[in-house]
Parts: sequence; structure tokens; C-alpha cells
Amino acid sequence: MTAEARHVTLIEVAPRDGLQNEKTMVSTADKIALVERAVTAGFRHVEAVSFANPKRVPQMADAEAVMAGLAGRFPGVNLIGLALNARGAERAVAARCTQINYVVVASETFAARNQNSSVEDLVAGTREVAAIARAAGLPLSVSIATAFGCPFDGEVAPERVIAITEALLASDPVEIGFADTIGCAVPTQVTDMLARARVLASEVKWRCHFHDTRNTGLSNAIAAVLAGVDFLDASTGGIGGCPFAPAATGNVAAEDLVYAFHRMGIATGLDLDALIDTNRWLAGVLGKPVPAALGRAGPFPPKAV
Ligand code: ZN
Repeated sequence: MTAEARHVTLIEVAPRDGLQNEKTMVSTADKIALVERAVTAGFRHVEAVSFANPKRVPQMADAEAVMAGLAGRFPGVNLIGLALNARGAERAVAARCTQINYVVVASETFAARNQNSSVEDLVAGTREVAAIARAAGLPLSVSIATAFGCPFDGEVAPERVIAITEALLASDPVEIGFADTIGCAVPTQVTDMLARARVLASEVKWRCHFHDTRNTGLSNAIAAVLAGVDFLDASTGGIGGCPFAPAATGNVAAEDLVYAFHRMGIATGLDLDALIDTNRWLAGVLGKPVPAALGRAGPFPPKAV
């Protein structure tokens, strides 16, 4: 984002990254309702489902049924399906997702645990997934997990992430994302990564994905926007985590980001009141309060009564 372009596009990932790590098994109808709420709040990009192995991620076992309730209903809304391999990409196409988000990993142990693969094979697999997306006429994005640190291998060098980014460019993704899978990043890492990435390619959009595990999620998101990121993942309610990352807590909360951005003069196109309403609805669905601060504190200034 330049100083003039005071805007950032948020991608709602609560239906995918949010729900996949909740113990409560949310019904297909409520998953569909969550996406409907996201669209009503103004999201035009929603990561709606993950095509993971249902034995490993049972929360996403009904991905096809969720998409059957959504596909074709919201013109102009991008319904993204997450794919961990070519099989997942084929399922995303069959389910009528409008974008495939393929995941590669920057660290070996997490690559083995998350996708039963090596970093090299995941990066090489991008070509196959890209071919599936291209044949279906769908845009491909690629997210690089553990881009800022790994729960098992520790520090991940930015040079390593940038080398992966360069390799991904050969598959022509529309968007490349840097994911702080376990919420260990700090803002200076984010600024540095985006500066390194932006000189690699001018036509690619950059995306960031933050978790608030160590209370740096909002700071990282602001750093990313000030460094010119195109897309930021966020989860209404701040719910979620990663089933294969110990102690990872929720995604950075959409309503907390929207509150801060709007007060900073950065437009998101989102309706804060609608997000807070979904926050409360989600607490009911999950049977517990959700982490986002705005659900408790409410917006500021307070509405006149
Ligand atoms: Zn995540």
C-alpha cells in the first residue's frame, strides 16, 4: 500500500483456518451461514473450505457439502478452497471453488507433519496444482507456511522463504502468501520479508497470514499493510489455529483489524457492526466466548443511545 492508496483487502479465513482447529464440530448449515455472514459484512474473498484428508482434519470432512450450499450464490465473491496436494486441488475444482490456495511449507519437520512431504516436493508439486487450476480456468494462490518460524525446527531464514518464493513464481500464481503459522513473527520480520518479495515480481499480489499466539498479530498486520501487502487473512472472532502446530492460537481477528484500520484511515470495505454481530453468533455456535477484543469492548466512539 502506498501512502495514497489507503486500502487493504481482507480475506475471511474463519470458515477454514478458524473452524478447523475448534473442538466443536460445527454443522454444515452453520458453516454455510458463517460464509453468508462474511459476504453480508462485505468480504469479497472468503477461504471457505479445506480439502484435507478427512481422517486427519475431520472438521473439514464436509467441504464438498459446504461448497454445494455456496457455489454460484454470490456473484463477485471469491470462494477459495485450500489444497494440500493435487488431489485437494481436483476436489476444489469439482466443488466449484473460484480459487485454489495451495500450501507449501518453509521448514522440513512441519512439511512432514502437515503434508507428509518434503519442502522440495511440496514446492515441485506447485506445478501440478497450477496445471489443474489452469485447466479449470481458476486462479492459483500459494501460501508458504512457517514463513517466519517453525514449531519444530525453530528459526526459518528469510533467504530460504525468498528462495521458495522465487521457485513458486515459475508456476505463475496470482498471489503468494507468507503465513506465520504459529504466531511467532514480529513486525520487523514482516517488513523485511515483504521488501525482499516485492522486488522479485511486480505482477504478483502479496498476502500475509498471522496468528495472535504471542500478541503480535495486530502489530504484524499493521506492519504488513504499511509495507504494501495486497491481502491480509483474518478470522472473524479470532478463532482457529492449526491442527499440526502445537500451541498455535487463533488467527488475527477481522473485527480487531477493521477497527484499527478504519481509525487509521485505511479502508477495508467491511462493516464493523456486522463483524461484531458474527463474533457473538460464533460464540453461540461454539459455546464459548471467542478471542477477538472488539466483541468484548465494542467499537469506539460508542454509539449514541
Ligand atoms: Zn493459520
